[in-house]
Amino acid sequence: MFYDPAEGLSRDELDRLQTERLRAVVARAATSPFYAARFEECGLTPDDITCPADIAKVPLTTKQDLRSNYPYGLLTVPVDDLVRLHASSGTTGSPTAIFYTRKDLATWASLMARCMHMCGMRPSDVFQNMSGYGLFTGGLGIHYGAETLGCLTIPAGAGNSRRQIKLIRDFSVTAVHIIPSYALHFADFLQAEGIEPASLPIRIALIGAEPHTEETRRRIEGLFGCKAFNSYGLSEMNGPGVAFECPEQSGMHLWEDAYIVEILNPQTLEPVAVGEIGELVLTTLTREGMPILRYRTRDLTRFLPGECPCGRVHRRIDRIAGRSDDMLIIKGVNIYPMQVEQILMGLPEVGGNYLIELSRDGHMDQFTVKVEITDEFFVEDMRGLNALRGRIVAKLRDELLITPRVELVQHGSLPVSEGKAVRVNDLRPKE
Ligand code: AMP
Ligand code: ZN
Repeated sequence: MFYDPAEGLSRDELDRLQTERLRAVVARAATSPFYAARFEECGLTPDDITCPADIAKVPLTTKQDLRSNYPYGLLTVPVDDLVRLHASSGTTGSPTAIFYTRKDLATWASLMARCMHMCGMRPSDVFQNMSGYGLFTGGLGIHYGAETLGCLTIPAGAGNSRRQIKLIRDFSVTAVHIIPSYALHFADFLQAEGIEPASLPIRIALIGAEPHTEETRRRIEGLFGCKAFNSYGLSEMNGPGVAFECPEQSGMHLWEDAYIVEILNPQTLEPVAVGEIGELVLTTLTREGMPILRYRTRDLTRFLPGECPCGRVHRRIDRIAGRSDDMLIIKGVNIYPMQVEQILMGLPEVGGNYLIELSRDGHMDQFTVKVEITDEFFVEDMRGLNALRGRIVAKLRDELLITPRVELVQHGSLPVSEGKAVRVNDLRPKE
């Protein structure tokens, strides 16, 4: 039933494995210049670890630590033993480099294959990776997972929708990896070409790499007539394959044989209660070349309570609600772009793309949402469009508690990025 026996471990077995691996990784990390100095400061030794909860004794690691020790300060092996480098997309600030030994690549590929098998992919699937390759881990990371599982794997890369269609049709592609914002754009493109997205043979879509809502997932499933599974990861923890949805599609199992997961209150740095939103903090348990301990991801999520009917006890996290650093404060109100997306993607008139624009009028922040409308509704008369605009304003106001400006624009008129979508354009003068 399970691809990897680790999926079926009981809580006790996982706890034992985590304790053993945490001790080992602390010992290993102590051989890197960065952690050697950190442990020295707080007096931590591997003997201090006797259970998974002892993770609290380990100091936290931030993106800034990775930057200050760039490029090699966290390595526990000589550069000769490394075989791969990836870099984070630099969602915020400059990029950071992550290194892998041969063993690290094999562990990662096997984690990824486990995720793919869990959501129903089999070696008989033909798999097309429609995300960017290069330094982004969603390229090669996903690629080697699919090859490890045994799928015929097509490294299509991002963009060039016409070629994507040809590959999907010529080779009867049944499973894809696609960034959600591009999936919506791709569906628009297909429809503009007179092709029904659901007429393609795709039955499984792995979607992730950027925040998206349940409404967006349902939309992608409806358009393509497929099942879409949320895929979470970050370069600092290898890349994709950290947490993934099972067939229940109710939260993502975070692989606890490979990572220790904590959710902390970002202010107090204390664990939050189950069900409460906080910052995801992750520790690599199996990384050889560059272990990272208690990494503050800045991603906001919560533990889902209860057992998953699929039988895996690896804890489930909710879809990412946003990043602690993408919160907007408009007229004193905290707003996350995902709140806007949730409203917009629930409306059939709204197309696949939107953009939040922040500007300043005198001393007042202006919050504008530009919304693409599907061609079908755009031809409506002015009165129809105004009524739609009014409805969107009202729905956003109810959710956000401030009244945004809403501009309806024609489908295809907002910029599309090849990688992760850029949802906020901040035009306010820098202080
Ligand atoms: P990178 O290391 O450049 O691939 O970026 C990793 C970041 O992408 C994560 O820290 C998240 O902020 C975001 N991310 C990745 N997967 C997801 C997902 N499934 N849902 C929401 N955000 C995601
Ligand atoms: Zn499950």
